[in-house]
Amino acid sequence: MNDWNKSWWLETLPGPITPNPAPEGTVKTDVAVIGGGFTGLSTAYHLKKLDPGLEVRLLESHICGYGASGRNGGFSMTLFGLTKGITRFRFGDARARAAHAYMEQAVDYLYRLVQEQQLDPDYEATGYLLVATSKAQEKRLEHDFKLAEKWQLEGIERWDRARLQQEFHTDLYRLGWFEPRCGILNPAKQARAMKALAEREGAIIHEQSPVTRIRRGADRRFLIKTPEGEVQADYLVLATNAYSIAFPELRSKQTPVFTHIVLTEPLTDAQMQAIGWQNRAGVEDARNFIHYYRLTRDNRIVMGGGDVTLTYGTNLDRDLNERTFRHLEQHITEVYPQLRGIRITHRWGGPVSITTDMAPVIGFLGEDRRALFSVGCIGHGVSMTHLNGLTMAELICGKKTERTEMFFVGRKVIPWPPEPIRFAVGHLIRGYMRLEDRLLYK
Ligand SMILES: Cc1cc2nc3c(=O)[nH]c(=O)nc-3n(C[C@H](O)[C@H](O)[C@H](O)COP(=O)(O)OP(=O)(O)OC[C@H]3O[C@@H](n4cnc5c(N)ncnc54)[C@H](O)[C@@H]3O)c2cc1C
Repeated sequence: MNDWNKSWWLETLPGPITPNPAPEGTVKTDVAVIGGGFTGLSTAYHLKKLDPGLEVRLLESHICGYGASGRNGGFSMTLFGLTKGITRFRFGDARARAAHAYMEQAVDYLYRLVQEQQLDPDYEATGYLLVATSKAQEKRLEHDFKLAEKWQLEGIERWDRARLQQEFHTDLYRLGWFEPRCGILNPAKQARAMKALAEREGAIIHEQSPVTRIRRGADRRFLIKTPEGEVQADYLVLATNAYSIAFPELRSKQTPVFTHIVLTEPLTDAQMQAIGWQNRAGVEDARNFIHYYRLTRDNRIVMGGGDVTLTYGTNLDRDLNERTFRHLEQHITEVYPQLRGIRITHRWGGPVSITTDMAPVIGFLGEDRRALFSVGCIGHGVSMTHLNGLTMAELICGKKTERTEMFFVGRKVIPWPPEPIRFAVGHLIRGYMRLEDRLLYK
């Protein structure tokens, strides 16, 4: 057992992983990217695409795909931040509308990348379905439909109860928001395919290379320390997502929160018939602590979400939560009583990155535009991180595009307080959201 076998997705990779070698001694490079998830890999790939003359080195502490990118639900979706309502409340209509357009571009871009580069992450263009399973959730969805009308969004279908019952053999769904442009994929296969793609373009990737310290040299270069070497770089990209808590420079920008997943054995043909789900769309409900679920290529059910786990300080070892796993297992049969007795084969969890206003940011370290970071995609980063990689590469290459001009690039984030206040504030917010779910959203 390797210490990177963190999800069933990582077990489905076609062969065993031999990690790339770590840097030894001192090496100089143009751009150093820290973190081998979708963000880092996409940034490295796009940098080489935009300027093949640049030397780009990526440093990953474990293996590429070890973090959230190799463990997530695999929904490629258009949601920016936590909900449309919160994004609008925080940034106003125009920006929230622009954020949705960026996310539509992200979903389309990821799909095109998979097709054109012949990546093989088991992508299924199934669409995405947001369902209301209680009266209060229905009200929430109606609010989203009103916003969609106001913002003149296209590509969204309203599914009523009859349509939902025809597609899914469950009584639970009352109203549905369906977006056909979205899809589902195997995230670990996607992460490994992005690694191969970045390498094909000439990026140098080091695995098992944890960055232990970052300093500035006298010549203003970034001196990036790993256990056996030092990488000296003109540009620095911190693509460490929730793990950014370990870097003092990013500690207040975001906080890690763990979300969890359980996986069933493959459903038989009879079980598949019993539950319907012919369209195979990824489904989420409209609670605060959503349930998200989907089918895998071999017809297992991935059921994720429910309550989240908070961390204290820099502890990132909260992958497993027995209570949440049990809740998720029960929820499978709440949606589909037909599946009573189905066997659970895998359980895992992973960290998502949360800013104080629940919205993503591509930022710069202080005034230095040679040091970039990306955090805060929460549980909606699969498509966004791929496009953010292009945006960050454009920023480094000095290009001005519609992406680099987005309002969340270089925005100031309200800092999280230091511990122990951070932990207390996190618990207060979580407690409030849980209470709402119990009383209202069920
Ligand atoms: C359980 C779960 C379910 C999710 N489901 C969905 C979903 O269905 N749809 C969706 O859109 N989003 C989902 N998300 C969110 C999505 O996975 C993330 O937004 C996205 O993968 C973030 O990618 P990233 O590259 O920024 O971060 P990560 O994939 O976390 O990559 C960061 C990398 O940095 C490395 N690293 C950390 N510290 C160091 C260091 N000191 N030195 C070197 N390397 C370091 C880590 O090992 C890691 O590989 C989910 C997340 C989780 C955890």
